[in-house]
Amino acid sequence: MIRIQNLHKSFGTQEVLKGVDLEVQQGKVLVIIGPSGSGKTTLLRCLNLLETPTKGVLRISDVQLEFGEGRKPKPSEVLALRKKTGMVFQAYYLFPHMTALQNVMEAQVQVLKKSKEEARRVALELLNKVGLGDRADFYPHQLSGGQQQRVGIARAMAVSPDVLLFDEPTSALDPELVGEVLKVMKELAREGRTMVVVTHEMKFAAEVADRVVLMDEGIIIESGTPDQVLNHPSSDRARSFLNRIA
Ligand code: ATP
Repeated sequence: MIRIQNLHKSFGTQEVLKGVDLEVQQGKVLVIIGPSGSGKTTLLRCLNLLETPTKGVLRISDVQLEFGEGRKPKPSEVLALRKKTGMVFQAYYLFPHMTALQNVMEAQVQVLKKSKEEARRVALELLNKVGLGDRADFYPHQLSGGQQQRVGIARAMAVSPDVLLFDEPTSALDPELVGEVLKVMKELAREGRTMVVVTHEMKFAAEVADRVVLMDEGIIIESGTPDQVLNHPSSDRARSFLNRIA
């Protein structure tokens, strides 16, 4: 479960998030859409503290942190929150000198302090799950973009996070490779994973999201079911964005 209250984030004098409130229930899929520069990625990065919010309250499962004047979380609290999330990036950021298997083992050994045998067992299970059981010993450069991104998804799941965060996971891929990644994500949604997905894939949003939010200039301007937001938006700004991408 995720709850965000009045979240703000500034870079210098530029306020990029201007008071975001959001809730994602356990097992639900939230898709975030919106124009370039509206703050989608920043919001996602605030969720696992790759960016530190300037102000607001952030809660994931049983970890709640407050930000703002005089309220700075301790490193142990930051780590506790980070362990609740797994992030899938637009560019996969796999370790190039490690095989797919080693990439999925790494955080289990380094962060969760699991034995290598146990980490290997889990990594193989996850690679099988994303359809790459037979590519475990391949290095990233030997894999297609879609395969690398599926390793990225397996890696994000390896620390058993409560929520999975996806930052435009298919936008760096050749069009013919997008489907295989979305298929894995759909499967995870079906299994009841809690997911937050920033994407421009409107078909995915329509099919898979429980809720869609549309961001513009650092605030949420529409929030609702995919049908409400994508087909019956209430504001002119939302209509104009949706017309532009249609
Ligand atoms: P896109 O769809 O193009 O990825 P977005 O909605 O994800 O856009 P963000 O990447 O969150 O938007 O960026 C929002 C604004 O914050 C932009 O104006 C961007 O330049 C600015 N910004 C993001 N990260 C930083 C940073 N680390 N330092 C300074 N400014 C930043």
